Amino acid sequence: MKIAHVLRLAQSRLPESDSPRADVEILLVHVLNKTRSYLLTWPEKVLSADEMAKFEALLARRVAGEPIAYLIGSRGFYGLDLAVSSAVLIPRPETELLVEAALARLPAGACALADLGTGSGAIALALAHERRDAQVVAVDVSPQALAVARANAQASGLNVDFRLGSWCNGLAGDEFDMIVSNPPYIRADDVHLKQGDVRFEPALALASGADGLDAIRAIISCAPSHLKTGGWLLLEHGYDQANEVTNLMRAAGFGAVESLLDLQGHARVTLGRRSVE
Ligand code: GLN
Repeated sequence: MKIAHVLRLAQSRLPESDSPRADVEILLVHVLNKTRSYLLTWPEKVLSADEMAKFEALLARRVAGEPIAYLIGSRGFYGLDLAVSSAVLIPRPETELLVEAALARLPAGACALADLGTGSGAIALALAHERRDAQVVAVDVSPQALAVARANAQASGLNVDFRLGSWCNGLAGDEFDMIVSNPPYIRADDVHLKQGDVRFEPALALASGADGLDAIRAIISCAPSHLKTGGWLLLEHGYDQANEVTNLMRAAGFGAVESLLDLQGHARVTLGRRSVE
């Protein structure tokens, strides 16, 4: 079958996808190990039987709902190409906002930061990449996730101290200039968990108790004893959780509490500073 024909046919099999054309192009680029412009330049090229079989196998999984990033095993994040598997949350564009906000607040020169619930390592690695002078600790409770994150660090040539643990338990007695986290924050009964790509992602990385705030509460309560005076805590959260997160941070004694909007205009990151005592 010719490339142009495969693209047309395959798209018609993905009526539930938000982006059938892009999905099919990404899978075909992956199978052929070519660029997207190759597909557009060589529409008459005929796929081999082997290429067709590989493509068909991936397309069938996509038709069954599996996320594109798991099918091709990678996702771009903040200029890094990260390996992902079903052991980790797929890095989201809105989490790049957390990285930018962190970079804008890290002290100049040598500094120490921790990423809690690192998953694929996305946030920790993006920060380590942008700030070579930062000492980065990244914690996750899942050994499978840590294996993915460690492989990503090695592939990117970045030095991150990965530790197995639950939130601050992974930090031992260390103190940081900044703690960041994109924790699970979806309400356990949210219908969104049963739809689309998130069905294939680890529940551990998505849902967090009846109001979605269990992990955020745990982090806000443990973070102050691991932050230097003036140190920052930055948390990603759901589009409707900024008020609750702000209140929790203020109640825990954080100052300069502020929420930042993502590209959709939702308050997506709330941050605060451990006050001078
Ligand atoms: N933003 C993700 C979603 O809504 C959730 C990520 C998370 O819980 N940290 O699918």
